[in-house]
Amino acid sequence: MVKKKYQGYCRICGEFGDLSFEHVPPRSAFNNRPVRYINFGSELVLGPEEQVKGPIQRKGMGGYTLCVRCNNITGHWYGSQFVDWCYQAMNILIRAEGKPSLIYLTRLYPLPVIKQIVAMFFSINSLDFRKANPDLVDFVLNKDKLYLSPKYRIFVYYNIEGNFRTTGVTAAMNIVKGKKISLLTELSYPPFGYIMTFDSEPSDNRVFEITHFARYSYGTWTPMELKLPILPTYLGIPGDYRTKEEIVEETKRNIENADKRKN
Ligand SMILES: [Zn+2]
Repeated sequence: MVKKKYQGYCRICGEFGDLSFEHVPPRSAFNNRPVRYINFGSELVLGPEEQVKGPIQRKGMGGYTLCVRCNNITGHWYGSQFVDWCYQAMNILIRAEGKPSLIYLTRLYPLPVIKQIVAMFFSINSLDFRKANPDLVDFVLNKDKLYLSPKYRIFVYYNIEGNFRTTGVTAAMNIVKGKKISLLTELSYPPFGYIMTFDSEPSDNRVFEITHFARYSYGTWTPMELKLPILPTYLGIPGDYRTKEEIVEETKRNIENADKRKN
């Protein structure tokens, strides 16, 4: 079989050339099983009971998004530290049978972890993302660069229920309070979900902020107390963590209200 070549612009450095398959999250962070192929962002329209349709992608979740160089350097600099962070979380979730109620001590490399998270946001967003955020390009392509501009904030939560979520930068409304608008991009793949906000608060205040991971030097390995909420992601709506039951209930209520208005 002839190996198909994919060419295009790299979503991190912007160079045109051969693209390599970027696993999002990295392959060894539990992303080595076949998944239904989804175009990043296309799950937006699915209902809570709907399964992602499309051909099976044997490689796992990801896409031809990065040049060979960016794929290799991010994997080399941040990959193993990020995978370790995912394994510890998976362990906590398994030990607590999916209901961790205590604060668990995690030992991690904060800077490589947050840089890998930012790198994944490049892959799930369009090329416009790198044009709009040159300082994030710098942050990912310089392994020792510290600090994020205050306009960026990054949040995390445990995610073990629902569908994968890969939403490019979107305005999200606070579903419960119905008012607050946030600008964010979101990625969920067990055991974690991640959010990056732009000059705004997250639309749901249960998520746990990890922006400060960017203040540690590259080689720092440190224990941290993390108390993360477990949030399900059934719909493709960014910032929406309603349970399946809540979604069904609310849909029923909306239909009833619409009927009342008609009569
Ligand atoms: Zn590149």
